[in-house]
Amino acid sequence: MTRATILIVDDEISNIEIMNAVLEDDYEICFSLSGQQALDTARAAPPDLILLDVLMPGIDGFEVCRQLKEDPVLADIPVIFTTGLGDTEDEIRGLSLGAIDYVTKPIQPAVLQARVSNHVELKRLRDQLASMAVTDALTGLSNRRQMERALKSEVGRLARTGDWLTVVMIDIDFFKQFNDTYGHPAGDRCITMVAAALTRAVKRASDLPARYGGEEFACILPGADPAGAALVAQEIGLHVQSLNIPHEQSQISPFITVSIGVASARCLPDMTPDLWIQQADLQLYKSKQEGRNRTTFIQFGASEGLVEG
Ligand code: GH3
Ligand code: MG
Ligand code: MG
Repeated sequence: MTRATILIVDDEISNIEIMNAVLEDDYEICFSLSGQQALDTARAAPPDLILLDVLMPGIDGFEVCRQLKEDPVLADIPVIFTTGLGDTEDEIRGLSLGAIDYVTKPIQPAVLQARVSNHVELKRLRDQLASMAVTDALTGLSNRRQMERALKSEVGRLARTGDWLTVVMIDIDFFKQFNDTYGHPAGDRCITMVAAALTRAVKRASDLPARYGGEEFACILPGADPAGAALVAQEIGLHVQSLNIPHEQSQISPFITVSIGVASARCLPDMTPDLWIQQADLQLYKSKQEGRNRTTFIQFGASEGLVEG
């Protein structure tokens, strides 16, 4: 496990030295001597926990905390205030600003150690939970919830430039028969292998492969025009084919195949994420109807009606 990073913020170097001595054996330590420096450091490389002095010239600890909690990237970093003994009002104010705890100065090493250790561990568990909430357990791909969230955000982002967005839906052919023939655990392994093939087929960092449900997958391809989308769909088909997973009961091939539906459109204001899903689903349905193991495309527009691809 990588060591957690603690950012110590205090305008008095002697305080930093004391806290550093307590924590340096267990954590990566960085420090800031002012509120502004702390914000710059946190933004450049978000730490796992911040020990924050209240009284500092310039931007004080409360203001640093307020700005951290306002920043979506930094808001989840636990902040522990370091306050003078008996500053109960400061402690209350700090907690109300979203700090997770406080320690009083002069620092008692055992107390600092315990509080930091507890909060680092809790932060790890929270991060783990957050990651599980957006990940499909079987395949490790993004789950449907994460995919829908990403699609919504891409539609919003791309609408500003009118850029292309493509959604690809992929469904394994005759998968019920596969389960019936080889058993459910083998079915699970097949789904995992198709997921891996999908990951290999989409190459841009912004592309998002996801498990949409059961034996159905989706890919969001931001910026992909119909020609680019066709190439990706072809890659997906080839990568699945090269898995060579036997499927005796398939009515169309001795191996596992997929049907694909592709929907591409320029993002315009008023276009909702559902449009891409509906259109890609419709094309997937056509691929199934027309014999499976194939890809059907559509290029659609916001108001001028649908343009068959
Ligand atoms: P089509 O070619 O029309 O897509 O037929 P199909 O049999 O693939 O589709 P259908 O929707 O009839 O069946 C899907 C099957 O996928 C049924 C279900 O038991 C199986 N399935 C869904 N999720 C999982 C899973 O997580 N693991 C396994 N092993 N099977 C799953
Ligand atoms: Mg101070
Ligand atoms: Mg299927």
